[in-house]
Amino acid sequence: MSKVVFFNLPGASGHVNPAISIVEELVERGEQVIFYASEEFRDRFSELGVEFRTYNQWTDHEITDEITHDILPTVLAQFDMLLDVIHPLMKITREDAPDYIIYDSVCIWGKFIAQALGVPAISCITMVVSHPFIMVTDWRISARVVKTLIMGLPHAMWARRMLKETLESIGLKYRGALFHVFDFFASVGDLNIVYNAKAFQPYANSLIGNFKFIGTSFRENRDQIDLDFSQFKRSKLIYISMGTVNFNTEDFYRLCFEAFGEEDVDVILSVGKTTDIKVLGNTPENFLLRNSVPQLEVLKHVDLFISHGGMNSINESLYFGVPLLIVPQQFEQHFNGRRMVKLGVAQVIRPEVITLEKLRAAVSHLLSEPSYQQKAQQCGEMLRSSGGYQAAVEAVLSLVNQLNSTPISRSVTAEVT
Ligand code: UDP
Repeated sequence: MSKVVFFNLPGASGHVNPAISIVEELVERGEQVIFYASEEFRDRFSELGVEFRTYNQWTDHEITDEITHDILPTVLAQFDMLLDVIHPLMKITREDAPDYIIYDSVCIWGKFIAQALGVPAISCITMVVSHPFIMVTDWRISARVVKTLIMGLPHAMWARRMLKETLESIGLKYRGALFHVFDFFASVGDLNIVYNAKAFQPYANSLIGNFKFIGTSFRENRDQIDLDFSQFKRSKLIYISMGTVNFNTEDFYRLCFEAFGEEDVDVILSVGKTTDIKVLGNTPENFLLRNSVPQLEVLKHVDLFISHGGMNSINESLYFGVPLLIVPQQFEQHFNGRRMVKLGVAQVIRPEVITLEKLRAAVSHLLSEPSYQQKAQQCGEMLRSSGGYQAAVEAVLSLVNQLNSTPISRSVTAEVT
């Protein structure tokens, strides 16, 4: 049995959810797991037999949707968290003496601690792997990255200095010529588990490093079912969710009431944990509203998913062959939406231009044009055949065995890539 410390992100279900099945599988294979996330996940992980910890005593930063609407605030929030947690975590993790470290790619401290301790560093990437070639595929993302680099230059200079000092203080050399913005999203380790199908990754063969695309990472029975689906008797069933934590989406929900309240459809609307259902006013008879629903279970029954375009929601939807209407809230979701349109499985409406007519027209088109569902099913096949959480754990354990049996090669990781 080996010991692993897994650093995940506070406050972000989109990053924690795919880790659940991996942790479960590691425990089933006899691994001892210490898992870091925020308090709300304590019960979920403790019941798996994991030692659960939070970052509360060192930082109150969270990577929420409010922050992630743009690249610069996201990177700066990550950086603040890094500075808050790295020294105490370094000390505690040294005492824990793990055989290897897994970290969500956004938790860049996981990589540095692993490097400083000389143990294998394994990154889990919940989005498309960010690397310079991405910019070639999408001019809007290129424009945003260039703008961020220009606007964020003073921050980048500061961050570069802080990073250099921080790394030196834990015995690592800073080797980056420039503050590397991409490394903050895909901080590559000795192995990188990507929660995506390889076919969905732009320029997958140009990535440098050890990447394992596993498709989706969940067990189909992940959710507790507390919905009776026989109550939905109308001709189509639509699911709407803008993710687990969202802000300023009340007007959009009211627009949905207006667009579909009189139609021959049933609608399940998950408003997220930060929205008070009462403030939305009268709910149409054909709508069921909850702060959270068992999404995987819901997706087994619906004809269409109206989503914010979070990576997990997209992959879960395609896994069950459900086409999407994407109403993106953040830069990453806009990018995801455009990729899904290219794959022929979705339409996108930007929130700033959405109207009742556009919403109705897009839904009617997606429901009446069979090619969306056919392509969604094909994508589902690709995700299913990528191996999932079992392939992830297989790759982790074989890498750890290989690296720990050749300790001399560990020195190569003690640098910033
Ligand atoms: N989710 C859920 N019930 C809900 C809404 C969301 O179980 O009512 C889950 C969903 O299955 C997914 C995650 O929360 O695994 C949302 O992740 P995503 O990346 O799509 O969005 P985020 O919340 O991170 O913006």
